[in-house]
Amino acid sequence: MKQKPNILLIYTGGTIGMIKDFKTGALKNFNFKDLLKHIPELNLLDCTISTVSFKKPIDSSNMNPTHWVKLITIIEKQYLYYDGFVVLHGSDTMSYTASALSFMIENLTKPILFTGSQLPIGDLRTDAKENLITAIQLASLQENNKPVVNEVGLYFEYKLYRANRTTKVNAEFFEAFNSPNYPPLIESGVHLTTHKNALWKPNRRKKTKFHKKLVTDIIVLKMFPGINKETVEYIFSLPTIKGLIIETYGSGNTTSSKWFIEALKKLIKKDIPIINVTQCNGGSVIMGLYETSSQLKKIGVISGKDSTTEAALAKLMYLLGKGVVGKELKTNFEQSLRGEIS
Ligand code: ASP
Repeated sequence: MKQKPNILLIYTGGTIGMIKDFKTGALKNFNFKDLLKHIPELNLLDCTISTVSFKKPIDSSNMNPTHWVKLITIIEKQYLYYDGFVVLHGSDTMSYTASALSFMIENLTKPILFTGSQLPIGDLRTDAKENLITAIQLASLQENNKPVVNEVGLYFEYKLYRANRTTKVNAEFFEAFNSPNYPPLIESGVHLTTHKNALWKPNRRKKTKFHKKLVTDIIVLKMFPGINKETVEYIFSLPTIKGLIIETYGSGNTTSSKWFIEALKKLIKKDIPIINVTQCNGGSVIMGLYETSSQLKKIGVISGKDSTTEAALAKLMYLLGKGVVGKELKTNFEQSLRGEIS
Protein backbone atom coordinates (compact mmCIF):
# COMPACT_ATOMS: atom_id res chain seq x y z
CA MET A 1 0.00 0.00 0.00
CA LYS A 2 1.24 3.46 -0.85
CA GLN A 3 2.31 5.37 2.24
CA LYS A 4 0.70 8.71 2.97
CA PRO A 5 3.15 11.60 2.69
CA ASN A 6 4.51 12.86 6.00
CA ILE A 7 4.26 16.59 6.37
CA LEU A 8 5.93 18.66 9.05
CA LEU A 9 4.10 21.86 9.91
CA ILE A 10 6.35 24.44 11.51
CA TYR A 11 4.79 27.40 13.26
CA THR A 12 7.02 30.44 13.64
CA GLY A 13 4.37 32.99 14.56
CA GLY A 14 2.29 35.63 12.80
CA THR A 15 -1.40 36.34 12.53
CA ILE A 16 -2.30 32.90 11.25
CA GLY A 17 -1.76 31.27 14.63
CA MET A 18 -3.96 33.63 16.58
CA ILE A 19 -7.45 33.25 17.83
CA LYS A 20 -9.86 35.75 19.23
CA ASP A 21 -10.56 35.63 22.90
CA PHE A 22 -14.32 35.93 22.61
CA LYS A 23 -14.59 37.45 26.07
CA THR A 24 -12.09 40.26 25.56
CA GLY A 25 -12.01 40.46 21.76
CA ALA A 26 -8.20 40.50 21.82
CA LEU A 27 -6.04 38.35 19.55
CA LYS A 28 -3.80 35.84 21.26
CA ASN A 29 -1.52 33.01 20.18
CA PHE A 30 -3.25 29.69 20.44
CA ASN A 31 -1.66 26.47 21.54
CA PHE A 32 -0.35 25.06 18.32
CA LYS A 33 -0.66 21.51 19.53
CA ASP A 34 -4.42 22.03 19.39
CA LEU A 35 -4.30 22.89 15.69
CA LEU A 36 -6.12 19.77 14.57
CA LYS A 37 -8.85 20.49 17.09
CA HIS A 38 -9.40 23.97 15.67
CA ILE A 39 -9.26 22.84 12.05
CA PRO A 40 -10.82 19.38 11.92
CA GLU A 41 -10.74 19.61 8.10
CA LEU A 42 -7.02 18.82 8.32
CA ASN A 43 -7.96 15.27 9.27
CA LEU A 44 -9.48 14.85 5.82
CA LEU A 45 -6.20 15.47 4.02
CA ASP A 46 -4.43 12.49 2.54
CA CYS A 47 -1.24 12.92 4.55
CA THR A 48 0.12 12.54 8.05
CA ILE A 49 0.74 15.86 9.76
CA SER A 50 3.15 16.49 12.61
CA THR A 51 3.59 19.92 14.14
CA VAL A 52 6.41 21.80 15.76
CA SER A 53 6.39 25.37 16.95
CA PHE A 54 8.99 28.00 17.79
CA LYS A 55 9.10 28.11 21.59
CA LYS A 56 8.22 31.76 21.41
CA PRO A 57 6.21 32.43 18.23
CA ILE A 58 7.00 35.88 16.89
CA ASP A 59 5.53 38.58 14.72
CA SER A 60 7.54 38.31 11.53
CA SER A 61 8.66 41.93 11.82
CA ASN A 62 10.94 40.65 14.56
CA MET A 63 12.45 37.93 12.36
CA ASN A 64 16.15 38.16 11.69
CA PRO A 65 18.80 35.87 10.22
CA THR A 66 19.22 34.12 13.58
CA HIS A 67 15.63 32.91 13.24
CA TRP A 68 16.31 31.80 9.65
CA VAL A 69 19.10 29.62 10.98
CA LYS A 70 16.82 28.28 13.71
CA LEU A 71 14.25 27.37 11.09
CA ILE A 72 16.67 25.72 8.71
CA THR A 73 18.10 23.74 11.64
CA ILE A 74 14.65 22.32 12.40
CA ILE A 75 14.25 21.34 8.74
CA GLU A 76 17.75 19.87 8.51
CA LYS A 77 17.15 17.64 11.54
CA GLN A 78 13.86 16.37 10.14
CA TYR A 79 14.74 16.43 6.46
CA LEU A 80 14.98 12.66 5.99
CA TYR A 81 11.81 11.88 7.91
CA TYR A 82 9.36 14.08 6.06
CA ASP A 83 8.18 14.35 2.48
CA GLY A 84 7.35 18.01 2.73
CA PHE A 85 7.42 21.02 5.04
CA VAL A 86 4.89 23.79 5.55
CA VAL A 87 6.10 26.86 7.39
CA LEU A 88 3.54 29.14 9.00
CA HIS A 89 4.99 32.62 9.14
CA GLY A 90 3.80 36.20 9.48
CA SER A 91 3.25 37.74 6.09
CA ASP A 92 5.23 40.94 6.72
CA THR A 93 8.66 39.43 6.18
CA MET A 94 7.65 36.08 4.74
CA SER A 95 9.30 36.79 1.39
CA TYR A 96 12.59 37.61 3.14
CA THR A 97 12.66 34.41 5.21
CA ALA A 98 11.48 32.23 2.36
CA SER A 99 14.01 33.77 -0.06
CA ALA A 100 16.77 33.23 2.50
CA LEU A 101 15.85 29.58 2.94
CA SER A 102 15.90 29.06 -0.81
CA PHE A 103 19.59 29.99 -0.85
CA MET A 104 20.53 28.38 2.44
CA ILE A 105 19.42 24.97 1.18
CA GLU A 106 21.29 23.71 -1.85
CA ASN A 107 19.91 20.86 -3.96
CA LEU A 108 16.55 20.78 -2.27
CA THR A 109 14.46 17.79 -3.37
CA LYS A 110 11.35 18.35 -1.25
CA PRO A 111 8.78 21.13 -0.91
CA ILE A 112 9.19 23.79 1.77
CA LEU A 113 6.06 25.88 1.47
CA PHE A 114 5.51 29.10 3.39
CA THR A 115 2.07 30.38 4.16
CA GLY A 116 0.26 32.65 6.58
CA SER A 117 -2.81 34.79 6.55
CA GLN A 118 -4.16 38.30 6.74
CA LEU A 119 -6.80 37.34 9.31
CA PRO A 120 -6.27 35.05 12.30
CA ILE A 121 -7.31 31.44 12.00
CA GLY A 122 -9.98 32.00 14.61
CA ASP A 123 -11.65 34.85 12.73
CA LEU A 124 -14.95 34.19 11.03
CA ARG A 125 -13.83 35.53 7.63
CA THR A 126 -10.34 34.13 7.90
CA ASP A 127 -8.17 33.38 4.87
CA ALA A 128 -6.02 31.15 7.09
CA LYS A 129 -7.91 27.91 6.58
CA GLU A 130 -7.74 27.90 2.80
CA ASN A 131 -4.08 28.95 2.81
CA LEU A 132 -3.13 26.31 5.34
CA ILE A 133 -5.17 23.44 3.92
CA THR A 134 -4.05 24.01 0.34
CA ALA A 135 -0.42 24.58 1.31
CA ILE A 136 -0.42 21.20 3.06
CA GLN A 137 -2.13 19.62 0.08
CA LEU A 138 0.49 21.04 -2.30
CA ALA A 139 3.32 19.91 -0.06
CA SER A 140 1.83 16.41 -0.21
CA LEU A 141 1.49 16.31 -4.00
CA GLN A 142 3.46 13.44 -5.46
CA GLU A 143 4.07 11.93 -8.86
CA ASN A 144 5.78 8.53 -9.18
CA ASN A 145 6.42 8.64 -5.45
CA LYS A 146 8.38 11.89 -5.76
CA PRO A 147 7.25 15.33 -4.63
CA VAL A 148 5.86 17.53 -7.40
CA VAL A 149 7.33 20.68 -5.83
CA ASN A 150 11.03 20.58 -5.08
CA GLU A 151 11.74 24.11 -4.01
CA VAL A 152 10.89 26.79 -1.48
CA GLY A 153 7.43 28.10 -2.32
CA LEU A 154 5.03 30.66 -0.94
CA TYR A 155 1.32 29.89 -1.02
CA PHE A 156 -1.18 32.69 -0.57
CA GLU A 157 -4.68 33.30 -1.86
CA TYR A 158 -4.95 30.49 -4.42
CA LYS A 159 -1.43 30.74 -5.83
CA LEU A 160 1.80 28.92 -5.15
CA TYR A 161 4.77 31.06 -6.11
CA ARG A 162 8.50 30.48 -6.21
CA ALA A 163 9.32 32.08 -2.87
CA ASN A 164 12.39 34.00 -3.97
CA ARG A 165 10.33 35.76 -6.65
CA THR A 166 7.75 37.14 -4.24
CA THR A 167 7.14 40.39 -2.49
CA LYS A 168 4.42 41.48 -0.11
CA VAL A 169 2.35 44.06 -1.97
CA ASN A 170 -0.83 44.51 0.05
CA ALA A 171 -1.61 44.96 3.72
CA GLU A 172 -5.39 44.95 3.24
CA PHE A 173 -6.49 42.42 0.67
CA PHE A 174 -6.14 38.67 0.93
CA GLU A 175 -4.04 38.71 -2.23
CA ALA A 176 -1.06 40.00 -0.27
CA PHE A 177 1.78 38.71 -2.44
CA ASN A 178 2.92 39.13 -5.96
CA SER A 179 5.56 37.50 -8.14
CA PRO A 180 6.01 40.15 -10.80
CA ASN A 181 8.75 38.51 -12.83
CA TYR A 182 7.84 34.82 -12.65
CA PRO A 183 4.56 32.96 -13.17
CA PRO A 184 2.83 31.03 -10.39
CA LEU A 185 3.89 27.40 -10.01
CA ILE A 186 0.45 26.07 -9.13
CA GLU A 187 -2.97 27.72 -9.08
CA SER A 188 -5.86 26.57 -6.97
CA GLY A 189 -9.31 26.85 -8.51
CA VAL A 190 -11.88 24.16 -8.99
CA HIS A 191 -8.83 22.08 -9.86
CA LEU A 192 -5.21 22.43 -8.90
CA THR A 193 -3.44 23.57 -12.06
CA THR A 194 0.26 22.79 -12.06
CA HIS A 195 2.46 24.83 -14.39
CA LYS A 196 5.03 22.12 -14.89
CA ASN A 197 7.40 24.22 -16.96
CA ALA A 198 7.66 26.77 -14.19
CA LEU A 199 8.61 24.25 -11.49
CA TRP A 200 12.23 23.85 -10.39
CA LYS A 201 13.79 20.65 -11.73
CA PRO A 202 15.89 19.11 -8.98
CA ASN A 203 19.01 17.05 -9.45
CA ARG A 204 18.36 14.13 -7.11
CA ARG A 205 21.86 12.75 -7.43
CA LYS A 206 23.34 15.80 -5.75
CA LYS A 207 23.55 15.95 -1.97
CA THR A 208 21.27 18.37 -0.17
CA LYS A 209 23.38 20.91 1.73
CA PHE A 210 22.36 23.25 4.51
CA HIS A 211 24.32 26.51 4.70
CA LYS A 212 24.01 28.40 7.96
CA LYS A 213 26.70 31.02 7.69
CA LEU A 214 25.40 34.38 6.58
CA VAL A 215 27.14 37.75 6.45
CA THR A 216 24.55 40.20 7.64
CA ASP A 217 26.39 43.55 7.62
CA ILE A 218 24.57 44.69 4.53
CA ILE A 219 22.99 48.03 3.75
CA VAL A 220 19.97 48.51 1.49
CA LEU A 221 19.85 52.04 0.15
CA LYS A 222 16.79 53.27 -1.70
CA MET A 223 17.36 56.00 -4.24
CA PHE A 224 15.12 59.04 -3.96
CA PRO A 225 15.21 62.46 -5.53
CA GLY A 226 17.13 64.67 -3.10
CA ILE A 227 19.31 61.94 -1.61
CA ASN A 228 22.15 63.88 -0.10
CA LYS A 229 25.90 63.65 -0.20
CA GLU A 230 26.51 63.98 3.55
CA THR A 231 24.11 61.17 4.46
CA VAL A 232 25.42 58.83 1.77
CA GLU A 233 29.06 59.49 2.62
CA TYR A 234 28.34 59.01 6.31
CA ILE A 235 26.60 55.68 5.75
CA PHE A 236 29.30 54.45 3.37
CA SER A 237 32.02 55.31 5.89
CA LEU A 238 30.70 52.76 8.41
CA PRO A 239 33.56 50.37 9.13
CA THR A 240 31.26 47.32 9.42
CA ILE A 241 29.66 47.44 5.98
CA LYS A 242 30.32 44.27 3.95
CA GLY A 243 27.91 44.79 1.08
CA LEU A 244 25.55 47.35 -0.38
CA ILE A 245 22.30 46.94 -2.28
CA ILE A 246 21.06 50.01 -4.10
CA GLU A 247 17.38 50.11 -5.01
CA THR A 248 17.53 52.15 -8.16
CA TYR A 249 15.03 53.81 -10.48
CA GLY A 250 13.54 52.04 -13.48
CA SER A 251 15.99 49.81 -15.31
CA GLY A 252 18.78 50.45 -12.82
CA ASN A 253 19.33 54.20 -12.92
CA THR A 254 20.68 56.53 -10.23
CA THR A 255 21.68 60.13 -10.06
CA SER A 256 24.82 60.54 -12.14
CA SER A 257 26.17 63.25 -9.80
CA LYS A 258 29.92 62.95 -9.47
CA TRP A 259 29.83 62.77 -5.66
CA PHE A 260 27.53 59.73 -5.78
CA ILE A 261 29.58 57.79 -8.31
CA GLU A 262 32.77 58.64 -6.38
CA ALA A 263 31.21 57.40 -3.14
CA LEU A 264 30.32 54.09 -4.82
CA LYS A 265 33.78 53.82 -6.36
CA LYS A 266 35.38 54.15 -2.93
CA LEU A 267 33.38 51.17 -1.66
CA ILE A 268 34.28 49.06 -4.66
CA LYS A 269 37.96 49.90 -4.10
CA LYS A 270 37.56 48.47 -0.60
CA ASP A 271 36.20 45.25 -2.18
CA ILE A 272 32.71 45.91 -0.91
CA PRO A 273 30.23 44.54 -3.48
CA ILE A 274 27.43 46.80 -4.69
CA ILE A 275 24.29 45.22 -6.11
CA ASN A 276 21.84 47.10 -8.31
CA VAL A 277 18.15 46.13 -8.02
CA THR A 278 15.23 48.11 -9.30
CA GLN A 279 12.68 49.66 -6.99
CA CYS A 280 10.05 48.97 -9.68
CA ASN A 281 7.61 46.20 -9.00
CA GLY A 282 8.40 44.36 -12.22
CA GLY A 283 11.10 44.35 -14.86
CA SER A 284 14.86 44.18 -14.79
CA VAL A 285 18.01 46.18 -14.25
CA ILE A 286 19.81 46.75 -17.54
CA MET A 287 22.88 48.81 -16.81
CA GLY A 288 24.04 50.81 -19.77
CA LEU A 289 20.60 51.29 -21.25
CA TYR A 290 20.61 54.90 -20.06
CA GLU A 291 23.47 57.25 -19.39
CA THR A 292 22.36 57.31 -15.76
CA SER A 293 23.41 53.71 -15.35
CA SER A 294 26.37 53.33 -17.68
CA GLN A 295 28.73 54.79 -15.04
CA LEU A 296 27.55 52.17 -12.59
CA LYS A 297 28.38 49.42 -15.02
CA LYS A 298 31.78 50.93 -15.70
CA ILE A 299 32.84 51.10 -12.07
CA GLY A 300 31.84 47.46 -11.42
CA VAL A 301 28.40 47.58 -9.85
CA ILE A 302 26.83 44.10 -9.96
CA SER A 303 23.47 43.67 -11.69
CA GLY A 304 20.67 42.14 -9.65
CA LYS A 305 18.81 41.80 -12.97
CA ASP A 306 15.14 41.08 -12.23
CA SER A 307 15.57 39.88 -8.67
CA THR A 308 13.49 41.24 -5.85
CA THR A 309 15.24 43.16 -3.09
CA GLU A 310 14.35 40.30 -0.74
CA ALA A 311 16.10 37.74 -2.94
CA ALA A 312 19.11 39.98 -3.59
CA LEU A 313 19.58 40.58 0.12
CA ALA A 314 19.41 36.89 0.97
CA LYS A 315 21.68 35.95 -1.93
CA LEU A 316 24.32 38.47 -0.91
CA MET A 317 24.28 37.32 2.74
CA TYR A 318 24.54 33.71 1.56
CA LEU A 319 27.34 34.21 -0.97
CA LEU A 320 29.41 36.37 1.38
CA GLY A 321 28.79 33.77 4.09
CA LYS A 322 30.30 31.16 1.79
CA GLY A 323 33.33 33.37 1.37
CA VAL A 324 32.60 34.18 -2.28
CA VAL A 325 34.17 37.54 -3.18
CA GLY A 326 35.45 39.65 -6.06
CA LYS A 327 34.90 38.48 -9.63
CA GLU A 328 33.48 35.17 -8.47
CA LEU A 329 30.82 37.00 -6.48
CA LYS A 330 29.84 39.02 -9.55
CA THR A 331 29.62 35.89 -11.71
CA ASN A 332 27.60 34.03 -9.11
CA PHE A 333 25.34 36.95 -8.45
CA GLU A 334 24.50 37.61 -12.06
CA GLN A 335 23.36 34.05 -12.67
CA SER A 336 20.39 32.13 -11.36
CA LEU A 337 21.29 29.96 -8.39
CA ARG A 338 17.77 28.98 -7.29
CA GLY A 339 15.62 30.38 -10.06
CA GLU A 340 15.63 33.87 -8.54
CA ILE A 341 16.52 35.63 -11.77
CA SER A 342 15.36 35.06 -15.31
N1 ASP B 1 2.53 41.45 11.53
C1 ASP B 1 2.17 40.11 11.17
C2 ASP B 1 3.44 39.34 10.93
O1 ASP B 1 4.05 39.50 9.90
C3 ASP B 1 1.28 40.11 9.99
C4 ASP B 1 0.92 38.73 9.51
O2 ASP B 1 1.07 37.75 10.19
O3 ASP B 1 0.42 38.62 8.39
O4 ASP B 1 3.83 38.55 11.75
